[in-house]
Amino acid sequence: MSFENLNLDAALLKALENEGYTHPTPIQEQSIPIALERRDLLAIAQTGTGKTAAFALPILQLLGNNKKKEGIKSLILSPTRELAIQISESFAAYGKHTQLKHAVVFGGVPIGAQISTLKKGVDILIATPGRLLDLLNQRVLSLAQIEILVLDEADRMLDMGFINDVKKLIAKIPAKRQTLFFSATMPKEITGLANGILNNPVKVEV
Ligand code: AMP
Repeated sequence: MSFENLNLDAALLKALENEGYTHPTPIQEQSIPIALERRDLLAIAQTGTGKTAAFALPILQLLGNNKKKEGIKSLILSPTRELAIQISESFAAYGKHTQLKHAVVFGGVPIGAQISTLKKGVDILIATPGRLLDLLNQRVLSLAQIEILVLDEADRMLDMGFINDVKKLIAKIPAKRQTLFFSATMPKEITGLANGILNNPVKVEV
């Protein structure tokens, strides 16, 4: 299996070549075709498996084919700022040859620079839940245009006490959307959350 077999656009294949990726990892091989069909995904995968590219590549491809729409079209929720920054770096690398703009927001730093970035317009937003709620309360952004939602490391969201924030955020995102749900483990609360927000998902486990 190669990345070409996954029907990825030339702009993405070129970026993967730059990164030195020759073959998709198992999570990428299984998840990318499902995500490209705009189906919901429940993926049980640990860090280090290549899960970031498993959601970032289909997002870049699906949104890249629909460039003209304004607003944030994909939201990636991350439990920690470190993970949010890593995800943002992955979008920068994989999206290098696309026109799509991404931004990352997280707490513990002044909000002003993040507000300025958001006001310029972004297609893809990577965020930690608390700071995203603050930004929403300040009416700096809207989640009404979201087409693709990703929950990354959902079990860590639970461990860190963010589940209620996550539920509040999801309530502000259109129900008609695609949701890609990633978790390393599936404790009962996480299964419950997944059942509540996924629509007929395909389950992938690596
Ligand atoms: P992740 O699990 O998304 O944090 O990725 C773990 C590491 O694997 C990161 O350093 C990625 O750059 C790298 N990686 C992801 N996919 C591939 C691939 N198909 N080939 C080689 N390296 C990869």
